[in-house]
Amino acid sequence: MIDPVLPTYNRAPLSFVSGEGSWLVEKDGRRFLDLGAGIAVNALGHAHPGLTKALTDQAGALWHTSNLYHIPQQETLAEKLVEATFADTCFFTNSGTEACELAVKMARKYWSSQGSDRHVILAFTGSFHGRSAAGIAAAGSEKMTAGFGPLLPGFRHLPFGDHDALRAAMAEPDVAAVILEPVQGEGGIVPVPDQCLKGLRDACDETGALMILDEVQCGMGRTGRLFAHEWAGVTPDMMMVAKGIGGGFPLGALLATENAARGMTAGTHGSTYGGNPLACAVGNAVMDTVADEDFLAEVRRKAGTFRQALEGLVASHPEVFEAVRGSGLMLGLKCRVPAGDVVQAAYGQETCIVPAADNVVRLLPPLNITDDDLREAAVRLDRAAASLVPA
Ligand SMILES: *Cc1c(COP(=O)(O)O)cnc(C)c1O
Repeated sequence: MIDPVLPTYNRAPLSFVSGEGSWLVEKDGRRFLDLGAGIAVNALGHAHPGLTKALTDQAGALWHTSNLYHIPQQETLAEKLVEATFADTCFFTNSGTEACELAVKMARKYWSSQGSDRHVILAFTGSFHGRSAAGIAAAGSEKMTAGFGPLLPGFRHLPFGDHDALRAAMAEPDVAAVILEPVQGEGGIVPVPDQCLKGLRDACDETGALMILDEVQCGMGRTGRLFAHEWAGVTPDMMMVAKGIGGGFPLGALLATENAARGMTAGTHGSTYGGNPLACAVGNAVMDTVADEDFLAEVRRKAGTFRQALEGLVASHPEVFEAVRGSGLMLGLKCRVPAGDVVQAAYGQETCIVPAADNVVRLLPPLNITDDDLREAAVRLDRAAASLVPA
């Protein structure tokens, strides 16, 4: 008999009932160190007093009105995002994949509003853009698309890292846009080198194709800059944001330049919930903390020490781990044993980590994790690795 909850997930036999900072409490009372942060969502950890206050204050005043009306919390958050980034305008969603939907629509509308039929969006192997019809068509992997055809047309897939293939594909006159993650997350924590992002920006400038960055996982301070593309010194035409921006409350956004958004006039897109007062009250509190330069400097400092600890872990357990990769507090351990075994071993040490493709385990701790908790993380991961090899 089918489970009352549609069985699309492979869940661990754990249920958490409360949390504080980087810690989760299981219903049996065990305390787990959370190095997954709900897949890079709990950017400020669990039960953050400022976020709790923002949410409960708003909950006592007004939850939802719809976008039939002005939403001051939404306008404030949009102004903050515009102020802090390349963007001139933002559309709020409830998730990352909805931001992808709008990116695809906006890219098509950009060209159609100029009387052009350019509509093809280039995407890369190993990418992940969410589970909507546009998201799976954009990422294109068999694992996500099998049985769901016919897929949304208009995507062309390129092997990640193949510059010749990219150059050839960009030369096609029907290319409207390119979409990519500056650091692939689900694909196994694979950063795009700064030089490649720069090269892609140049290629987009030459052909007029729009550059769409998916910063749903790598954005909002995760790499130690507010957005990951800042490391490369380039700016996109559109950027998808979600996960960390809501700190655990469902919130996403598509940020765009005025030029990229030119076709999106009243009535061309909408969302009932998107950017509602509750979500934006929390989003504003997250932005106020994470967009602060001192906070980001702390993320970079902690990332440096944690990465060193992980390099040590790889050196001490060469039969379990092959290498550390990633950027900031978006780190991956490439495993020599099945990544699933490493995740299980970490559960054995009351530690949550997240599997990814390419036999990688992801470490995505809250951005405000303490130095003590990072030291404890290294100790627990060391024990987990030791438990995997017969003494
Ligand atoms: C998680 C993720 C998405 C999808 O976000 P949802 O909120 O799950 O829809 C899209 N792109 C990237 C890079 C992600 O990591």
